[in-house]
Amino acid sequence: MKTVNSVYIDGKFETPHGTEKAAIISPLDRQPIASIVYADQTDTEKAIQAASKALVTYSKTTATQRSQYLIAIHDEILKRIDDLIDVTIREYGAPRERAKWANLIAATTFADQAKVLGTYAFTTTVNESTVIREAIGVAALFTPWNATAGAIALKVAAALAAGCTIVLKPSEFCPWQAEIIMECIDAAGLPAGVVNMVNGHGEVITEAIMQSAAVTKISFTGSTLVGKILAKRAVDTMKRLTLELGGKSANIILEDADLSIAIPMALQAAFMNNGQACIAGTRLFIPASKKDEIEALLIKAADTFTVGDPRQGDFKLGPLANQRQYDRIQQYIQIGIDEGATLLAGGLGHPEELSAGYYAKPTVFIGVNNQMRIAREEIFGPVLSVITYNSEQEAIDMANDSDYGLMAYISSGNHTHATELARELKSGRILINTLKHDPLAPFGGYKHSGIGRENGLIGLEEFLEIKTVIG
Ligand code: NAD
Repeated sequence: MKTVNSVYIDGKFETPHGTEKAAIISPLDRQPIASIVYADQTDTEKAIQAASKALVTYSKTTATQRSQYLIAIHDEILKRIDDLIDVTIREYGAPRERAKWANLIAATTFADQAKVLGTYAFTTTVNESTVIREAIGVAALFTPWNATAGAIALKVAAALAAGCTIVLKPSEFCPWQAEIIMECIDAAGLPAGVVNMVNGHGEVITEAIMQSAAVTKISFTGSTLVGKILAKRAVDTMKRLTLELGGKSANIILEDADLSIAIPMALQAAFMNNGQACIAGTRLFIPASKKDEIEALLIKAADTFTVGDPRQGDFKLGPLANQRQYDRIQQYIQIGIDEGATLLAGGLGHPEELSAGYYAKPTVFIGVNNQMRIAREEIFGPVLSVITYNSEQEAIDMANDSDYGLMAYISSGNHTHATELARELKSGRILINTLKHDPLAPFGGYKHSGIGRENGLIGLEEFLEIKTVIG
């Protein structure tokens, strides 16, 4: 069986110093598909040393040289795109279309960052001063399991563009996809030590990173809970922070929306990536006046969200990523039932004949109020909470009455009015009548959804320090 590399240091894949072994279980059928030996603190210390050494020369490279490295990584990812899609399905359970889209975006992220770098002014004049922006130093990058290649690409591309060197800590739950991305970076021919990877338990790797003054930047994508732990610890050595955290995104259907488009789109927003998306639109606000019509459309649309093994057909949803995720989603469905919400679609258990993997039923609750746990907590699975409102102001107030503020969605027949409402929402990104992604515009969250932004120019600047020279 395949053994996944967990350690890449100073330009080489290495046998880890760590000894703890784990099996990688496919969520499609619960069968082991690979194994990994986790990296430990010693591996992480070595990776930090290699990154510190490489920083001396890499931080002095020209933007043109760094653009060439970014393009080379882009090209290498495209060469491995079929492997990446295959492993994203087997290791994570993504539907094929999603696996394809997510991995292609990972490749284009490197090309986009090269584009940004091509026009970026690292030195500017402000009043009588020269302002210099330079690489922040060694960056520790933490990524989650639900968007392995995409999250790694966003962080690695921006850090490399800035002239930083890297210790990458991908999720230990999807290490095979991370290994392939690391192989692409290896094949792109960067100087040794510029990108290093250690994969193991978050707490263990974090210990070495937090103890090191050489690491000056943390860029973390993951849960709000863990983001807060890292933020508190990072202050001791004043590491700069970017946090991309959880969400409980509101989707507001206005009275004048074209419901035949808005309702299927609302389910797509809730169930994308098997419901395991930070940006999922999991609170659907509907006008009380259209409640019956919308509920009928939700039932009809929910039927089209087919679930199955992505290797065997073009299903809209695959399984949840692991047993822990499956159990979590079942618990939340039970919580919704116990709180008195009504099931309109889905519910507890596996869809018929799909008990071999971690398949769950795409679930829609109606009769939800914004104080219920299923409306406040990030479930991170295919569970939609539908909440009725009596006035637009009430919809906006309820949408903003959340700890989170990552994404929001509005459906309306009047784009100008929807744009005015978007100004009222406390969210980092707002989509009006679309689910489109803009990979160059800022992405990140208000409130407990994070600190800072990723993507494009602003993503690059998260890895720069600013120095003013006067006289
Ligand atoms: P997680 O917080 O459990 O893990 C994220 C990373 O942190 C992993 O690499 C993990 O190994 C590490 N980690 C876990 N526990 C740790 C600890 N105690 N100390 C140090 N490191 C630790 O998140 P996850 O379950 O992998 O991912 C799902 C979460 O990520 C969801 O909340 C989702 O909303 C969020 N997410 C956010 C975005 C975004 O851009 N805002 C994107 C994707 C996912």
